[in-house]
Amino acid sequence: MISIKSQYEVELMRKANQIVKDALNLIEDNIKEGMTTAALDKLAHDYIVKCDAYPSFLGYNGFPASICTSINEQVVHGIPSDKRVIKEGDIVSVDCGSIYKGYNGDAARTFMIGKVSEEKAKLVEVTKQSFFEGVKILKEGVRLGDLGNTIQSYAESFGYGVVRSLVGHGIGRDMHEDPEVPNYGRAGHGMRLRKNMTIAIEPMINIGTYDVRMLDDGWTIVTADGSPSAHYENTVLIKEDGVEILSL
Ligand code: MG
Ligand code: MG
Repeated sequence: MISIKSQYEVELMRKANQIVKDALNLIEDNIKEGMTTAALDKLAHDYIVKCDAYPSFLGYNGFPASICTSINEQVVHGIPSDKRVIKEGDIVSVDCGSIYKGYNGDAARTFMIGKVSEEKAKLVEVTKQSFFEGVKILKEGVRLGDLGNTIQSYAESFGYGVVRSLVGHGIGRDMHEDPEVPNYGRAGHGMRLRKNMTIAIEPMINIGTYDVRMLDDGWTIVTADGSPSAHYENTVLIKEDGVEILSL
């Protein structure tokens, strides 16, 4: 079911998303070569709890941590570990969520560690920009197919693969609500967005093929061809004349 948010609900989602944004900024300020992904998890967890919020990923379908950390060929849903040490040249996607007074925030960034290859740096930049290309066309009445098509066309113009099997989503009381928000699609198709809907838009872009597979841990999604992947996400509020990005 698709939910239209009241002003009160939007206010709580603003707060939940600001907590996520600040947790990601804290990670950005601290992430460096030699750190473990478990240390990043602890940073985010402690910050979110300090804000009187709950890290929504923790325990979600049994997920064992407060953030997802996905490095290089890992696309999303990587599990933080005290055995995984971040190295110079890595690209590290961090996905983070919080629940504040019953409402969800959700956002992701891909961080570059020290000097990364030109190839990876370009991927990270284009993935982020593909989100903003999508946002440019968004307002009440725009179809989901037009949003997906805009993101896809931009990313594919660089020869990249747009992940198909994972998509963005409505968000509110639940982290994952209807509708599904694909990063690909056919212009002129799909449902029309309505004012005061809140959706998480999250392009997952691979240097190579869009095919992905899951590792034996039952969570981590990696590219099928081993090529690097990047992720960028924000929660947005649909308005009459555009959007408000709640997690920026
Ligand atoms: Mg997310
Ligand atoms: Mg999401």
